[in-house]
Amino acid sequence: MKDCLFCKIIAGELDTDLVYEDEKMVAFADINPQAPVHLLLVPRKHIPTLVDLEEEDYSLIGHIYKAANQLAREKGLADDGFRVVSNCKDNGGQTVGHIHFHLLGGRFMQWPPG
Ligand code: AMP
Ligand code: ZN
Repeated sequence: MKDCLFCKIIAGELDTDLVYEDEKMVAFADINPQAPVHLLLVPRKHIPTLVDLEEEDYSLIGHIYKAANQLAREKGLADDGFRVVSNCKDNGGQTVGHIHFHLLGGRFMQWPPG
């Protein structure tokens, strides 16, 4: 989609190193990391927010969680734990309107979030 930052990254229009990619999704480091490991897991399909998901999309979300498991293991996070976060719209703190999942790890994280 035109004017979508993550669609531009997926299209290769920005110089972003992908740490993982397959036919359904990509993953890359967050430009403003909030933890020693901070990856963004992003479907290639432009879905603006969680509330825009349709029935056909739920297998894609499962696919992204499978990649989160794999990437967390590869990054050495599986033993100590980590966090997967998806912010939704303004109150959730979403700033990029293309659904994505933050994979954060490498430090202890407080709960509740701010
Ligand atoms: P959210 O605020 O949940 O929508 O997450 C968007 C995330 O995208 C933020 O954590 C930003 O730091 C990150 N971000 C913005 N621009 C880029 C970029 N060019 N490359 C990597 N991450 C980015
Ligand atoms: Zn997009």
